[in-house]
Amino acid sequence: MRDDLLGAHVSTSGGVEKAPERGFEIGCNAIQIFSKNQRMWKSKPYIEGTDRKFRENCKKYRIKKVIIHTSYLLNLATIDPIKREKTISGLIDEFERGDYLDIPYLVIHPGSAIDTTEERGLFEIAKNVNTILKKKRYKIRLLFETTAGQGNNLGYKFEHLFYLLKNIKNDNIGICLDTCHTFVSGYDIRTKKTYERTIFAFDEIVGLKNLFAIHLNDSRAKLGSRIDRHENIGEGYIGKEAFSFIVNDERLKNIPMILETPNGDEWYKKSLRLLRGMKNG
Ligand SMILES: [Zn+2]
Ligand SMILES: [Zn+2]
Repeated sequence: MRDDLLGAHVSTSGGVEKAPERGFEIGCNAIQIFSKNQRMWKSKPYIEGTDRKFRENCKKYRIKKVIIHTSYLLNLATIDPIKREKTISGLIDEFERGDYLDIPYLVIHPGSAIDTTEERGLFEIAKNVNTILKKKRYKIRLLFETTAGQGNNLGYKFEHLFYLLKNIKNDNIGICLDTCHTFVSGYDIRTKKTYERTIFAFDEIVGLKNLFAIHLNDSRAKLGSRIDRHENIGEGYIGKEAFSFIVNDERLKNIPMILETPNGDEWYKKSLRLLRGMKNG
């Protein structure tokens, strides 16, 4: 198998230590997982020895990078004190689980300004993350994901991400770019020219040095629609060519690229083969 960092989001059913084998079976060199049930506030702690088994399996199944995607319930942008407290303790739990498993990246959607303005929401996100990271130094790096901007979700403009990087007083943070989300929020990548323009804008505003992970998803919705519907690679409005620019981009060489496309393992396998086939040399 090629020496790349391509992979997919895989299930942890039956235990987190089962994920590396699932990744291996569909051709992943990198995987993304949930650290716990992503739709529940509370989850049991890992049973003893899970960390050792998980690391052994990553080695055995040659998984070189792992990413945790945080729970969908978290909302760092809320001004509601109860929701804020739940989010903070939920996120601390994700940090702890990540460090326990020795995972390098923790991806989070910045937050939703459902009960406030965008400006205040961004301010709250930075403040809440500062609160968490001031109390303890974690090994895992927190990555804010670019979002589709559906509803009141923040993070659909590169400027939002710049604001967070600037206002969080910690260097152990960064960005995860999702190709479907950036596309529907208005950043075109379908031609060489538009791709270069988007990467240039990202580098100017956010900085490529802050990019640590990529979600490779095609889109079922149009450019600028702000509708978050993932599609299999080459089957959506983005189309195959954009993905060939990404997998061949020298600037993105050491960045894990994770599929979050629908329809399960057969499509994951097919998409990973397609992406590897696009690689020059
Ligand atoms: Zn994503
Ligand atoms: Zn999405």
